[in-house]
Amino acid sequence: SGCTSQPEEYSRDTFAMDTIMSLSAYGPKAQDGVEAAIGEINRLQKLLSVTDEDSEVWKLNHGNGAPLSVSEDTRTLLDAAAQMGERSGGALDVTLYPVTRAWGFTTGSYQVPDPAVLQELLTHVDYRAILREGDTVTLPQGTEIDFGALAKGYAGERCALLMKDMGITSALLSLGGNIQTVGAKPDGSPWRVLVQDPKGDGGDYVGTLELVDQAAVTSGGYQRYFEEDGVRYWHIIDPATGAPARSGLQSVTIVGTSGTACDGLSTALFVLGRDGAVNYWRQYGGFEAVLVDDSDTVWITAGLADKFTLNNDAGYTLR
Ligand code: ADP
Ligand code: MG
Ligand code: MG
Repeated sequence: SGCTSQPEEYSRDTFAMDTIMSLSAYGPKAQDGVEAAIGEINRLQKLLSVTDEDSEVWKLNHGNGAPLSVSEDTRTLLDAAAQMGERSGGALDVTLYPVTRAWGFTTGSYQVPDPAVLQELLTHVDYRAILREGDTVTLPQGTEIDFGALAKGYAGERCALLMKDMGITSALLSLGGNIQTVGAKPDGSPWRVLVQDPKGDGGDYVGTLELVDQAAVTSGGYQRYFEEDGVRYWHIIDPATGAPARSGLQSVTIVGTSGTACDGLSTALFVLGRDGAVNYWRQYGGFEAVLVDDSDTVWITAGLADKFTLNNDAGYTLR
């Protein structure tokens, strides 16, 4: 009714990229911004889906070794994946798709693949075999890509840029475990987001993070898994073995200004484990991390000292 100090708020949930997404924005352009962001997410889903026969990724994966001219989005993702692939010693590898498919993580028909089958599939896994020439990409026969480890972070980053271009200064996008913020809260204070408890149910949390104009992306074995003969198998795979990465970590949360990098690194550093993650951070930097290890110890990088607050009731110890 006119005379209020509350800024306009507009929120909408949507299902895309195999997950629930919640988008909220503030200010006079809030509704336009959220709707434009959902449009962008749907565009990227159509482009990057591994199962949609009209997607660009499908065309690449079914190109039988022929060169294909690809979009700027795909080139950006391939560049980011190549850099993180190289820096992580192959812990992030976007050509892992034949392997994740064999485990059933793309379809939900889970199974432990035969070791001989896995070994054969692994011969097709190597991101360095992706040939690039200008706008053109060529995949060797048998090589298939999947941007599942990067796509939601990329979508969040793109949405934030789009909203800022529209004049939005305050928004919170939650793309299924991938948080992307625009600016600060409408009152100027930082966004406070939860780092989920890997052993709890959805509402339980390890701690909170303060974010301004940043992404926070979590990868964890608890997010998608199945159990067989008492063993838990999750969807983050170590390209060195073709099996779920067991590096001593329950979850990795990456905080940074690029959602794409945060998403890729959450996956890569989960595979690398604590020491590998800390080494990566020391060597390349540009991000901060919250690591939750198998003995319920929480490790944070120096830049989060006054941005992360442990939840003292969750049973975790901060180091
Ligand atoms: P989420 O699926 O919750 O976004 P991640 O960002 O960690 O979690 O991405 C995991 C997805 O990425 C898997 O479902 C699979 O499709 C793919 N993937 C799994 N392991 C790797 C890996 N080592 N490198 C690249 N992609 C991977
Ligand atoms: Mg992800
Ligand atoms: Mg990821």
